Amino acid sequence: MKQFLLTSSLLVLFNFADGQDYRWQQRVEYTMNVKLNTETHKIDGTQKLVYYNNSPDTLTKVYYHLYFNAFQPGSMMDVRSRNLPDPDARVKDRIFKLKEDEIGYQHILSLKQDGKVVNHIVNGTILEVTLARPMLPRTKSTFEMTFESQVPIQIRRSGRNNKEGISYSMTQWYPKMAEYDFQGWHAYQYVAREFHAVWGNFDVKITIDPKFIVAGTGRLQNPNEIGHGYEKTGTSTKKTSEKITWHFTAKDVIDFAWAADPDYTHDVKLVPNGPELHFFYQKNEKTAVTWKTMEEVAIQVFQHLNNNFGKYPFDTYSVIQGGDGGMEYPMCTLILGEGSQAGLNGVMAHEVGHSWYQMTLASNESLNAWMDEGFADFASDEAIHTILNEPINHAGSYTSYFNLANSGLQEPAGQHSDHFNTNRAYSTAAYSIGAVFLQQLKYLMGEEAFYKGMKRYYNTWKMRHPEPNDFLRVMEKESGLQLHWYYRYWIQTTKRIDYGIGNIIEKEGNTIVDLERISEFPMPIDLVITYKDGGKEIYYIPTNEMMGKKLTEDKSLKRTDLAAWPWVNPNYAIRINRRLAEIESLEIDPSLRMADINRKNNKIVISEIKPFMETTH
Ligand SMILES: [Zn+2]
Repeated sequence: MKQFLLTSSLLVLFNFADGQDYRWQQRVEYTMNVKLNTETHKIDGTQKLVYYNNSPDTLTKVYYHLYFNAFQPGSMMDVRSRNLPDPDARVKDRIFKLKEDEIGYQHILSLKQDGKVVNHIVNGTILEVTLARPMLPRTKSTFEMTFESQVPIQIRRSGRNNKEGISYSMTQWYPKMAEYDFQGWHAYQYVAREFHAVWGNFDVKITIDPKFIVAGTGRLQNPNEIGHGYEKTGTSTKKTSEKITWHFTAKDVIDFAWAADPDYTHDVKLVPNGPELHFFYQKNEKTAVTWKTMEEVAIQVFQHLNNNFGKYPFDTYSVIQGGDGGMEYPMCTLILGEGSQAGLNGVMAHEVGHSWYQMTLASNESLNAWMDEGFADFASDEAIHTILNEPINHAGSYTSYFNLANSGLQEPAGQHSDHFNTNRAYSTAAYSIGAVFLQQLKYLMGEEAFYKGMKRYYNTWKMRHPEPNDFLRVMEKESGLQLHWYYRYWIQTTKRIDYGIGNIIEKEGNTIVDLERISEFPMPIDLVITYKDGGKEIYYIPTNEMMGKKLTEDKSLKRTDLAAWPWVNPNYAIRINRRLAEIESLEIDPSLRMADINRKNNKIVISEIKPFMETTH
């Protein structure tokens, strides 16, 4: 007993030391019972929600998301899409053209808090509820709701009859409690991007025409009753009644998504040491071969991510044909299924990556999309290239960043996702600049510390809502370096990195190289010198803001550590104890991990230039 107490208090201390224990988070327990009428596309639902106010605040209001309301002419999503210079091709003016029986809506028929009727008003995609009784700190309330929804024609993420003929993509489909945290309410109108939600448990019963197969978040509780290839014993007791009810439960998730189609083929594969993978798709000439191949790739993606970024915390995952591209949800994804093999593998891998960066590390996607899309892109890209035995260099992300930076459209990546001026600036910021943030962090920290840090981040913050500072603090502790300056420059500004090699002279038998910081963004420098005799060495210059240096990455290369480069200084001179005639070339960051906007001035081959010679004797 004593030992137990000692151990647990040490654990608390350890957690506190890693920064996670100071932050409370709300909790939800949903029990939903919904009936989908597949002729009218309407849902009748009941929702019992036990909401835990773990905050130190007394709440007088709560807010729910009503996402389906976005699919109505004149909604904020519609107006935004019609006013963007580069609207999403899937949305454009399609919402504006929806007819009455094609729109989406969520009508709240009744709502009670602990048995008392509450006042509520609908404002676009947000339901504002004035509580019957304020919720004191660390208390819970039970909200009981009845609602009626119409499933819209598939426009974005959710809806009926997607372009590949999947009947129902049921995502962002139920009244969902908005997140309240140390920053207050995150009850954003659904304009384009959305993910931030309360952690909790779901118990969902879906009643539907028995010809449909349902796939979704969580684990099916009644496979024998359902049949449809779910039964393990082979003694299916599938009902022949008019409707059947699918019962799913999921623990410690931030959402619940599902899809239904009469023609799903269902395959099951096992990742060694878990999880169990489920695949649901319409088998036809476009999918029959590609999905079987993709299933094998999915196993390897899970293995790679488990080994390098932390262990997947759930026991199942489903890849479901549906939606309009690829969208991540807890324990499942909805993706289009009829594309090329490489496209299918890539989308699957990206969405699986979100099981780490969003479904386990639930950063606020609206505020910090780069921590969600960028990190998922980074991890899945590493998995795919490892499987293909290709170099891991994230070259595509760098190219996309350089193109945006040179277009004049770049905006700081750290702004709210919905508020970028163009979809292009958003998507490059979220995906590419987010992925480059990590690849460049390898350059700053060294690869070994980087991967250790990624796992430590995962284990420290899983099932929480990490913020940029939380990630940075873990990486700082792992590397012994200060890194907030890097985050501020890379994520909060559009400042660029541009270093170059300037004058080279020989003086008293030494070679003096002048390095130039041409743009504002300070970075540490790896300068690799290649000699004519085939030898190589590296000169390493940290920035003063790092307050330290990375560990040696390539032990086969002699490294000379130089004094820190103060960020205010535009130039830095290096003295190499060799004659100029002995040097073949000099190169800043041959690993290409530093996102230098102009790489032309990063390498000098001595024979190709006429050095500025100043020989004193
Ligand atoms: Zn994504």
